[in-house]
Amino acid sequence: MRVVFGAGSLSQLPSELERLGAKRALVLSTPEQASAASEVAKALGSHAAGTYDKAAMHVPLEIAEDARRVARELGADCCVTVGGGSTTGLGKAIALTSLLPILAVPTTYAGSEMTPIYGLTERGAKRTGRDPRVLPKAVIYDPSLTLSLPPALSAASGMNAIAHSVEALYAQDANPVISLMAEEGIRALANALPVVVQSPRDLNARAEALYGAWLCGVALGSAGMALHHKLCHVLGGSFNLPHAETHSIVLPHAMRYNYEGAREAMTRVERAMGSGYAPNGIFDLESALGLPMRLADLGMKEADLERAARIATEAPYPNPRTVEYAPVLELLRAAYQGRRPAQS
Ligand code: NAD
Repeated sequence: MRVVFGAGSLSQLPSELERLGAKRALVLSTPEQASAASEVAKALGSHAAGTYDKAAMHVPLEIAEDARRVARELGADCCVTVGGGSTTGLGKAIALTSLLPILAVPTTYAGSEMTPIYGLTERGAKRTGRDPRVLPKAVIYDPSLTLSLPPALSAASGMNAIAHSVEALYAQDANPVISLMAEEGIRALANALPVVVQSPRDLNARAEALYGAWLCGVALGSAGMALHHKLCHVLGGSFNLPHAETHSIVLPHAMRYNYEGAREAMTRVERAMGSGYAPNGIFDLESALGLPMRLADLGMKEADLERAARIATEAPYPNPRTVEYAPVLELLRAAYQGRRPAQS
């Protein structure tokens, strides 16, 4: 994979396409970013086959199939994704069945562009998989494209990225190089996000945040995820809670759950954040960013917590501490109420 990083680097899109040997790019976006996609298509001139602006959260299968059809009918030979994880995800769905290469232009901090992980949602059920064919062939990180990302979305998406690095630090298959990257990704995002939220048009802070997102994306793509991601998957998939905000709320509580089983990882988080007890370092950063702190704020029903705990504990998976129903239910209650994690 080639990566180009820096303000103004979008201007290198035509030469990056040329490197891929692509001549007919389908430019993808969400409806909200349709005008950004049109601008990109215009800049590509005759090398743009067209735009498709119906990307949606969690890649509904109907949309994936519609976009695959459009790519075929337009004779596209590559996809340029302009947007966050939802748009990159649509490009991956097309690549999975067509092998069209992806050139990703990320505009959030989700990090999907660095991973071979894809997701598709069919009749409300999301399935994910790993396949090297969906890994973008080139990525252009242009921080100036993130200036328009609203502060609340920036904060939630940045904390989602930090969650990827935290779990990579204590993953069963963690390794020392990915841990270096994960720690640096947390440091960069924790440093930049307060500035981004205060001054969304601060290009230096945006560049540091995007650099952190890049690192956290690599961490996500390289290490297996654990309890935190399992819980977020359950809460998103079975209770329809929003992706990034759910990650943000659950993270400090999942870290408290795993604290004793992952002391080295927690020391790295504390060093990266310049904080004491890591779960509180994360919790306090999220509060300072003005993020929602309670699952109740996202519409979770208290009566559903037991069902969520049951689903999250019914099949075993690797985690630093054994995953058991009663303490997981307690974790979910703390996240539901937004309690600051108590050091045990
Ligand atoms: P998103 O892509 O859904 O974007 C959220 C909203 O922000 C959209 O309306 C989008 O158009 C808008 N937006 C994005 N960038 C903008 C900008 N610069 N300015 C203005 N508006 C902008 O959100 P996300 O958090 O990036 O992605 C979430 C999705 O990505 C989830 O479905 C998640 O499962 C997936 N994801 C996948 C991976 C992976 O490795 N496969 C990794 C992370 C996230």
